[in-house]
Amino acid sequence: MTDYRRLRVALLGAGAVGSQVADLLLRHGSELADRAGATLELVGIAVRDVDAQRDVELPRELFTTDAEPLIVGSDIVIELMGGIEPARAHLLQAINSGADVVTANKALLATHGSEIFDAADQVGAQVYYEAAAAGAIPIIRPLRDSLAGDRVQRIMGIVNGTTNYILDRMDTEGAEFTDVLADAQALGYAEADPTADVEGYDAAQKAAILASLAFHTTVPLEAVHREGITGIDKAMMDAARHAGYVIKLLAVCERLTGADGAESISVRVYPALVSRAHPLASVHGANNAVFVQAEAAGNLMFYGAGAGGVQTASAVLGDVVSAARRHIAGGVGVGESTRANLPIVEIGRVTTSYQITLEVDDEPGVLAKIAGILSEGRVSIATLEQTVIHDPSTSSGTESSLRDDNLGGVARLVIGTHKALEQDLSETVDRLAASGVVERVVSVLRVEGD
Ligand code: NAP
Repeated sequence: MTDYRRLRVALLGAGAVGSQVADLLLRHGSELADRAGATLELVGIAVRDVDAQRDVELPRELFTTDAEPLIVGSDIVIELMGGIEPARAHLLQAINSGADVVTANKALLATHGSEIFDAADQVGAQVYYEAAAAGAIPIIRPLRDSLAGDRVQRIMGIVNGTTNYILDRMDTEGAEFTDVLADAQALGYAEADPTADVEGYDAAQKAAILASLAFHTTVPLEAVHREGITGIDKAMMDAARHAGYVIKLLAVCERLTGADGAESISVRVYPALVSRAHPLASVHGANNAVFVQAEAAGNLMFYGAGAGGVQTASAVLGDVVSAARRHIAGGVGVGESTRANLPIVEIGRVTTSYQITLEVDDEPGVLAKIAGILSEGRVSIATLEQTVIHDPSTSSGTESSLRDDNLGGVARLVIGTHKALEQDLSETVDRLAASGVVERVVSVLRVEGD
């Protein structure tokens, strides 16, 4: 057996991910040593309760509730506790005591990333976080290394498995949001408090991390526009399907170029219509996928498990091997590049196409009035479909096409727009709602990936 240098590895947390990382480190130690060029010695595991039942059997003597002595003197510190504190303090302590660090903590990186990267830069340490966005899927390294010579134009990611599971079942089974959410909670796909997932907070954290890397710009979490999926109902799903779309919660990170050539970026999370022909439409269940469009490379898609203890442990261990290789090679690590420092635009300055669904009075002249309001608002119509949903002559809902003889009825209009400025669109929708001919704005959804 080769006589490698020993590197001391401290593990903070042995929950869903940490316990699997410890298990793989212990079971595959000699294989990992050959790959890393160093023996990875797990010196201890810090947890809250040393007697708690673990997902896998691990040596009891490795556990401690005292993280500090483990951190000091370690070469590599793996943080898998989650949350902000004490994870932040432990990572800073590890960096300042000469360790390279590995973390999967998106909440921490999205809120305190700059502080951690700056601390690492100052001492020449490296921060690895492949598991912080899209779990097992390699996306951080491709953005940071493989695409470092290219210019990323746009990222569209399904980066939250819980919401994809819910939307997929609503789409494929015609189920209602609340029913699928209850199932997801029973199956362990969704937390008892699902807010972080269904309101898009988790996806927004990942969007901030991906956009920062892709555009070499610090993207604070507050700059990410965020909408969740709680407003999506069966009727919207059915309408999307009818029009050839599926609704997905997307994290969109986009480079924008103004008329004067000046560049800016937009980072946003919202449920959007995706054409069924787009590769993201076929991401089912709790899977994740990240679709990257780069100037030279073209379209790339990264797909796989966005969560799960052992799956995420794969990404963590890849980082541990990278950290070990760098530790052995020595030299200053490559820090995060934020030198582009592009301005981040508000959602109102973003341009996309939309699908607007309205319930309108089924009367002569209504269509002309609606078309006029859209045109005045600089929103141009690409497609228009109209269906009578209440016909007073029969007193029942019908699916016939809109006709002038259906006076007093209600019709549903589904308007597909060409690309329009979000600000123009939202002002136009307000004007439509106040026009006197629109009974109800049923939904306004952006179309992405067209
Ligand atoms: P978890 O199951 O809740 O485990 C957390 C672990 O940290 C537990 O072992 C806990 O100890 C320990 N811990 C928490 N606070 C502590 C404290 N103050 N002092 C000492 N130990 C503490 O979490 P997880 O699901 O493994 O997630 C870990 C990280 O990976 C998070 O940042 C998460 O966002 C990220 N991540 C998770 C997944 C996934 O599929 N689970 C996927 C991607 C990324 P006890 O066990 O003694 O309570």
